[in-house]
Amino acid sequence: FPCEVIRNFSIIAHIDHGKSTLADRSVQLLTGTIPRKVFGANQQVLDKLKVERERGITVKAQTASMIYHSNRKKYLLNLIDTPGHVDFSWEVSRSLAACQGALLLVDATQGVQAQSISVFHIAKERGLEIIPVLNKLDMPIADPSRITAQLQSMFGINPAEVLQISAKTGRGVEAVLQAVVERISPPSGSVHEPLKALLFDSQYDRYRGVISLVNIKGGVMRKGDRIVSCHTGKKYDVTEVGVMYPEEIPVTHLQPGQVGYIACNMKESTEAHVGDTLHQVNAPVDPMPGFQPAKAMVYAGVFPVDTSDFIKLEESIRRLTLTDRSVTIQRESSTALGQGCRLGFLGTLHMDVFRQRLEDEYDANIIVTAPTVPYKVIYRDQTVIVSNPTDFPDEWGPASRVHGVQEPMVKASIVVPEEYLGDMMDLCFSRRADNLDHRYLDSGTSASARVMLTCTLPLSEIVTDFFDQLKSRSSGYASFDYEDAGYKASDLLLGLRIFQMTFLLNGKPVDALALVIHRSVEHKIGRTWVRKLHKVIPRQLFEVPIQAAIGKRIVARETLAAMRADVTAGLYGGHYERKLKHLENQKESKRRMKKIGNVDLPQDAFFDILSTR
Ligand code: GDP
Ligand code: MG
Repeated sequence: FPCEVIRNFSIIAHIDHGKSTLADRSVQLLTGTIPRKVFGANQQVLDKLKVERERGITVKAQTASMIYHSNRKKYLLNLIDTPGHVDFSWEVSRSLAACQGALLLVDATQGVQAQSISVFHIAKERGLEIIPVLNKLDMPIADPSRITAQLQSMFGINPAEVLQISAKTGRGVEAVLQAVVERISPPSGSVHEPLKALLFDSQYDRYRGVISLVNIKGGVMRKGDRIVSCHTGKKYDVTEVGVMYPEEIPVTHLQPGQVGYIACNMKESTEAHVGDTLHQVNAPVDPMPGFQPAKAMVYAGVFPVDTSDFIKLEESIRRLTLTDRSVTIQRESSTALGQGCRLGFLGTLHMDVFRQRLEDEYDANIIVTAPTVPYKVIYRDQTVIVSNPTDFPDEWGPASRVHGVQEPMVKASIVVPEEYLGDMMDLCFSRRADNLDHRYLDSGTSASARVMLTCTLPLSEIVTDFFDQLKSRSSGYASFDYEDAGYKASDLLLGLRIFQMTFLLNGKPVDALALVIHRSVEHKIGRTWVRKLHKVIPRQLFEVPIQAAIGKRIVARETLAAMRADVTAGLYGGHYERKLKHLENQKESKRRMKKIGNVDLPQDAFFDILSTR
């Protein structure tokens, strides 16, 4: 395939607007690559992970190659499916690096949503050709003319360029592929140049080691080539090259413009550096600018329920981070929970997905501590980023060594029908919002006119239940996206009023339960957690005070009565399914007791405390 018949493109959209459906439909329509017998009509081929199928979201970008015949020419279309959720915008910008164009897919029943806006800007910044496509035209409530007007006013898109389709029925899908061929420019690069390949993703295969996805920018990659990584300087023999069709199909070589996979005996996950440039041993090239490393926004500790499982857990985490390079890992040890890992995630959904994948794919039985954002703690002579509540200073202010604390902020955008605007503003203000502003996406004023609300919010305010609140207070209509807005300087006079909260059992702090909180919620949070502990901790032979404290000040307290002879183990609530699985596993592992402040605490009590919100 010479360059001029190759098209590398991506589908970008707000979640649920139909990316995966369109991707699957295109693959099906064109190539017959998907034998109908194997993949039922409802099964989405590109969403391969179990967690993706369960949650109906795309987490991991996948690629698929297809052959398209048009005007008596044979085109090679390389489609890269991207995740839609805000937490995965890093995956989005990475997939776009291999593309020359993108389909901006918008659900014609819903219109432009918060993530339609952010992905549009990412694609625009990269200079990609954008093809606007309205989806779900088969639905009676689709309103293509109104949504087209939104595209025009929001993005300056020419209405004549907007395509209308139904990914579900297949109507208009062929025209989309035709537009891909006509409007998106082919990749450049020549077979006569030295090999230059962009490594943009990797996954782990138990038998072949690391499998890397590459985009050939110049030259040819062949099986048997000896290649070098610009990043590490390490040399490898290419043992297999192939294309995703959409399953892996080995080929003899990859040409300029092509997207494919390679296996080259990379053993370690860390060797496949996303954004790396690969070249032939004897023909060095300049490395391409790599990608911005992903920035962790939310941290949590992950511990095995059975402490002897730590080695296995750590290995599973390392394997999993190979397919998700945006997770950062550090070892952590806790007096309460033993050895574990402190992981950094791009957001809370990302964290939940990672946890679920650990449980599903690696059968791990784990305890995850409450999520924390990275705070900046300013000492007289240095500034330290603190991503673990136990490292947060217990006291700060004019009298202490700590001069101030800064917290990470985000610029949030919410798209919502006008009738919910007031509720959304209330929600934002209750979460310490600042710089609140709004603008209309639709002209005219009906209750269903869409409004985009923007404000700055502390990141810590959205890592807990913000999204759930947003959805429930808008009857599910609000969409939400955010971007990093740096740190907010602390003001010692007004005070950021952020403190470490600890929980004490019989007067001794339980490190794994420490939190960093804003003063305005100290009573609410203190009481909730103390009650939770009270429910979960088994009675002892003596009375046990359970307290929440900020510094030396006690904020909430419950007292666990001493054990009576007739008391059997208490029953308490929890996430039902997870708990069942947990109970099964518990039979096998010994119940491990921890002693904290003279209190005997089974390790799995933490599981129950931390897995209920
Ligand atoms: P993604 O999150 O953007 O990948 O969205 P999906 O492809 O998973 O689609 C989200 C939901 O919309 C699924 O339930 C699809 O069956 C449905 N859907 C997608 N395209 C269409 C369409 O053209 N018409 C209708 N009626 N439903 C669609
Ligand atoms: Mg999807």
